[in-house]
Amino acid sequence: MAFVLQDIRLWDPSDPGKTALIIDGDRVGDGTSMVNEIIDGGGCTVTPGLVDAHVHLVMGAQYRRGVDLSGCASRQTCLAALHEAATSLDAGAWLIGHGWNEQTWPDATPPDRTWLAEFGDHPVVCWRCDLHAAVVNDVVLEHLADAALSDAARRTGVLVEADAWECLIPAMPQLTAEDSQAALRDAAQWLGSMGITAVRTMEYRDELEHVIDPIAVELPLRITVTMLDRTLPLDLAWIKNRATALPRVIGCKAFFDGTIGSRTARMVSPYLDRGKHGLWVELALRDEDEQWCAAVVDAGLTPSIHAIGDAAVARAIRVLQDVPRELHASIEHAEVVPGDAALYDLMTSMCLSVQPVHRAEDAPTVERCLEPAAMKRLLPLRRLLDDGAPLAFGTDWPVTSADPMRTFAAAITGRDVDGHVRHAPIRSDEAMRCMTTEAAAMVGLPTGAGLTPDAPADFVIWDADPLSWDGHGDPPRPRSTWIGGVQVWPPT
Ligand SMILES: [Zn+2]
Repeated sequence: MAFVLQDIRLWDPSDPGKTALIIDGDRVGDGTSMVNEIIDGGGCTVTPGLVDAHVHLVMGAQYRRGVDLSGCASRQTCLAALHEAATSLDAGAWLIGHGWNEQTWPDATPPDRTWLAEFGDHPVVCWRCDLHAAVVNDVVLEHLADAALSDAARRTGVLVEADAWECLIPAMPQLTAEDSQAALRDAAQWLGSMGITAVRTMEYRDELEHVIDPIAVELPLRITVTMLDRTLPLDLAWIKNRATALPRVIGCKAFFDGTIGSRTARMVSPYLDRGKHGLWVELALRDEDEQWCAAVVDAGLTPSIHAIGDAAVARAIRVLQDVPRELHASIEHAEVVPGDAALYDLMTSMCLSVQPVHRAEDAPTVERCLEPAAMKRLLPLRRLLDDGAPLAFGTDWPVTSADPMRTFAAAITGRDVDGHVRHAPIRSDEAMRCMTTEAAAMVGLPTGAGLTPDAPADFVIWDADPLSWDGHGDPPRPRSTWIGGVQVWPPT
């Protein structure tokens, strides 16, 4: 069964000028098969399906059930949203919000537990947008009476890094697998509405096996997985023996540092407002990073390292430099690139999985809290592309919005969340490549060749041409999104 989509403007890295696309089954046709149907594209632009190279799919799906505070422009609007959500909760039920960012508030002052004093018997948890810090109320602190919380966390209700990850999360109620699957189905469709046809997700084995695996074949989304389980000794044998072919597990991730917003990204020079360099965390703190990398490579898997500060990125480069190229070892975020020229050069031959929206959100903090030269090294997309670095764009959703057009706008304008333009822009075709073919090739998805004959027929028909959008005002949106020759959005 083949059909032709005609009267379109096809944007494809391999052949930008085509005006028709032949779909043969689930693949792009080569023109030799019999065409059963002709669909008129009405002159619309068609691009390959968008790829998000770094998401937390299960977490993001679950968070969509909580209170979204990401659009709140002040502490008061955050509180109003929480209070409104609290009115429909049962007595004593947990109230969970996420996405606050004090950088977007007039006073830029982070909240503490006093902020959440008026929620009665509801345990309240509000995650910062970067998920590396949460503020909780006294009810939650009582729940954590026996946990190994730091004194600062107990005093302020602000739980950073290990306090949040190792004490808070295990104490929070978990959705059932069925509820998580329902949330995941909704999320996959919602991603499709934004033109996303494939993601690489970061997951723990438990979530992968209980939430994703049972419904992976029916989800309207291509998925590869990087595992977050990282306690040594690593157990990786199960990956080879998985009962299911989908989704494919491609590698493992380790964390070397935290985030700029929480001042936990590890920097060569200290933060001007704290006098400290940020943190080494986990494997890097314990000097187990080389051992972890060797174990991942021995299993034939891709090592990926979360590194945001320039000291952490430098360490990631050193750890990954001897990994065979075909494994596509990646640095996740690489937000402040090293000042050292030799290390920078080494880095440009590695896969960089980067988030332009992180840059847009962190730039005001970098300007205030780091040495002036750091801004030039804050995810310098223009320079990285000029130097031939392979770049995959992603959002880190739910750490930032999953909306790919925010990524696109941040990249092509160089504009930050406060409206200032601090970075050299890149061209829209470059951004589109980093959001489609380059991203796919880097994270083991089958659409790296774009819409060439015999490639998977994953594409988006747009209501306006994204390649000629200037990044201001309303973005183009998908008219329809297709995976393997089947329209997945709007649902038919
Ligand atoms: Zn992430």
